[in-house]
Amino acid sequence: MKTELHTEWTVEEICKGFVYNQSEGKGLFGMNGKLTIQPEYQRNYIYADGKKDVAVIDSVLKGYPIGLIYFNRREDGQLEVLDGQQRITSLGRFVTSKFAIKQDGMEQYFRGIAKDKQEKILKTPLLVYVCEGTESEIKEWFKTINIIGVPLNHQEVLNAIYSGTFVTLAKEEFSNSQNNNINKWSSYISGVVNRQEYLECALNWVSKGHIEEYMSIHRHDTNITELKTYFNSIIDWIDGLFDEIHSEMKNIEWGRLYETYHRRPYNQSELNKKVADLYADEYVKNKKGIFEYVLGDCQDTKLLEIRIFEERDKKTVYARQTQEAQQKGISNCPLCALGSDNNKNRIWKIQEMDADHVTAWSKGGSTEISNCQMLCKTHNRAKGNK
Ligand SMILES: [Zn+2]
Repeated sequence: MKTELHTEWTVEEICKGFVYNQSEGKGLFGMNGKLTIQPEYQRNYIYADGKKDVAVIDSVLKGYPIGLIYFNRREDGQLEVLDGQQRITSLGRFVTSKFAIKQDGMEQYFRGIAKDKQEKILKTPLLVYVCEGTESEIKEWFKTINIIGVPLNHQEVLNAIYSGTFVTLAKEEFSNSQNNNINKWSSYISGVVNRQEYLECALNWVSKGHIEEYMSIHRHDTNITELKTYFNSIIDWIDGLFDEIHSEMKNIEWGRLYETYHRRPYNQSELNKKVADLYADEYVKNKKGIFEYVLGDCQDTKLLEIRIFEERDKKTVYARQTQEAQQKGISNCPLCALGSDNNKNRIWKIQEMDADHVTAWSKGGSTEISNCQMLCKTHNRAKGNK
């Protein structure tokens, strides 16, 4: 890979023809269209907080370095910002008077500050490394300079679109891996904190699934009280009800369960006893469903995907299989009948057999008589363990 250091490009040249997309919170182009500021793989502009963006301008005005910037030169000659997007976007937004800085105690836009200060900013040269290489070289380079090289996920895009006081505060709480509560939350939520997945969950809960609408309504809020309070109510509710933490508790629709059940009183020791019993029950296929099942007073067995047949169905299937087997002189366990040992024509008693799903539960087989066969206990156990 080739790299060349450029010291001759000034803020003025880099910001020439600067285009900023307000709705997407993106700096798009500079250098009269020759520079793409935000390639697909870049994270969104996050300096527009009245602090980081102002700090960039203050640094330039004071003559402090703002650090190395990296461009990638594409095959078609177009330049892309590899690292420095936030700084360039701050400079571009300032020189196009998109935000103000404090000068002599007053908020001032670029067009309002003294001419010599304008000149100082425009004539400041930036230190730019231009890299040229194959895609894999660039990606390697990318890792080295520690930039997130993955596409933005849905919540990251929403954060950029609805950037403002609300998102900033919400991220401080829910996207901050230094937050000591993350460990506790991770019992019920899975995801990556700095990929905004906890924030997404919190927003999903409070908005009952209407995240975008909620973010748009609250965009300029200067507090996140409702979001935080609601989130904590749900976490406390789960914490208070269940004694033990199971891995299946992650990513259950707790928001919906909370809305449905949090007004109901529960006998906590009974509730937890039921949970423990169901965990120990080999017929409960869907352990994740246990929580909703017990919260709903153990009514909806479908949630558990239970592997069990009705007694009357077992008797019907047993009678039919046994009758056919006796006519053919083979075992009434179809798997024994296929074998070559002494059991191949053995007629088992119903107590010596168990009901089995012909098509397994995991493959979508139902617990209907049409999907039921009786197997000797040995064969049933062997099949069940698969
Ligand atoms: Zn058998």
